[in-house]
Amino acid sequence: MTDREKITQVFYDYEDGGLVSADLDKVMRCLDKDLIGIGIGEQGFVTSLEDVRQVFLSGVKNAPGIKHSLSFEHIHILIHEEGFANLCAKVIVRAQKGDELTTSQFLQFLTLIRRGEEWKICGLHASSPVVTEESVEAYPLKFAEKTLQSLKEKIGEEAYLAEEQYRQAVLADTIAFYIINFSLDLFEKCQLNGELCAFVESGTPYEQFLSDHLPLYVMEEDRKIFLKTLSLQNVMDAFASGKKELNCEYRFLCPDGSVLWMVTIVRLITDVATGDKKGIMYVKDIDAAKHRELDMIAKADRDVMTGVLNKSAFIGSVSSLLCDRETHAFVMLDIDNFKAINDTNGHPAGDQVLIAIAGILKDTFSTDGIVGRLGGDEFAAFTQGFRSQDDLRNRLEHVLEQITKIKPSGKALSVVTCSIGVALSSDTLTIGQLYKRADDALYRAKQNGKNQIAFYICR
Ligand code: GH3
Ligand code: MG
Repeated sequence: MTDREKITQVFYDYEDGGLVSADLDKVMRCLDKDLIGIGIGEQGFVTSLEDVRQVFLSGVKNAPGIKHSLSFEHIHILIHEEGFANLCAKVIVRAQKGDELTTSQFLQFLTLIRRGEEWKICGLHASSPVVTEESVEAYPLKFAEKTLQSLKEKIGEEAYLAEEQYRQAVLADTIAFYIINFSLDLFEKCQLNGELCAFVESGTPYEQFLSDHLPLYVMEEDRKIFLKTLSLQNVMDAFASGKKELNCEYRFLCPDGSVLWMVTIVRLITDVATGDKKGIMYVKDIDAAKHRELDMIAKADRDVMTGVLNKSAFIGSVSSLLCDRETHAFVMLDIDNFKAINDTNGHPAGDQVLIAIAGILKDTFSTDGIVGRLGGDEFAAFTQGFRSQDDLRNRLEHVLEQITKIKPSGKALSVVTCSIGVALSSDTLTIGQLYKRADDALYRAKQNGKNQIAFYICR
């Protein structure tokens, strides 16, 4: 039998012993010797096996002629690593007396402990499924907390420590956590670890809080994605599509003005008692890990030798910049007779020329463009700061002039020149078409004698 099957069987036996077969021994066999329990309703508090015996003896009245039967709905089992488990279920009790049938139901919440191969009930709680403030409060999160507290006292320090370690592991590097009732659009609980995050009173409306506090805590560039991910609407959509977790990484504005990468994770849960959609929201500091990740991404996007973007990163960036309908310029640059430079001055000297040209392009487009190496001796720049063709031509002529000042190392004296092709973007052009136009213009510059600039001309 799996643990899950064993736990379910204990639950069935316990309910049957108490409610149908009225078998005290059967009930007692299900219970752990160190029973703790918090019962709401007629039983009041049940804190020992003796209490259970008393409740049973006084409460179970096997009235003649009444036949009881049980059915169960929504059985949820959660098995914790440290040998504890929780079970929640709806119990429906039918009592048949002659033709008369009465039905009642309640919600059962059990905490079980593993004893060798067996599972025993060590905590129990039943509540009416009617949504009252008391049941929302107590079931199941509040109850789980109280159970933990009682476990500490009753089952001993060791078991509690294991549970506490688990909790600490979950909460490690969590700087805040909140429990939110999305169905009611309000915060239920807030726990802060330090002073970075905002304390939220329980009962504070969730959606309103987000819109009020976002500008204070989230960097402007990340607010849109934060809201899109964690808006009430999106959370409810996530519930509807069966998602279990939402998360959003963003730059967090610290009170001292510094910025830290954080992640907000929301575990989505449905309260079995009320059906309310709830979430446990963790805020974690991921600054160090995120910087390592960003460094790696940046490195993967770069041409190792020259430090400018590699071809795929360059084309990818241009594609994302193309959609804004402004006029941009796509510039392609190829070194003239580069093979000869390699041949006469040596390959390392050729490398130095490539690095120097990349530097000139980076300086030229540092404020309004991006630069990439498309391969070999071919570079490209995409400028967003297009003012006029003349202005661009002046800037590119300055580039050509600077390039002729590069002095390749080695004995032979070579003058470095380049050819440049330019295509202007229009909103009907794809990246592929723009690239092709710039390449055609470059080809013309080479054909016309090199060391010059050619603009693509529409025919
Ligand atoms: P053209 O004026 O027609 O462009 O002639 P070219 O000699 O420059 O010819 P092309 O652009 O086709 O050749 C590029 C050369 O660049 C070929 C290759 O030997 C050299 N090359 C490619 N990558 C590197 C590199 O990383 N370092 C060095 N030193 N040379 C490279
Ligand atoms: Mg070349």
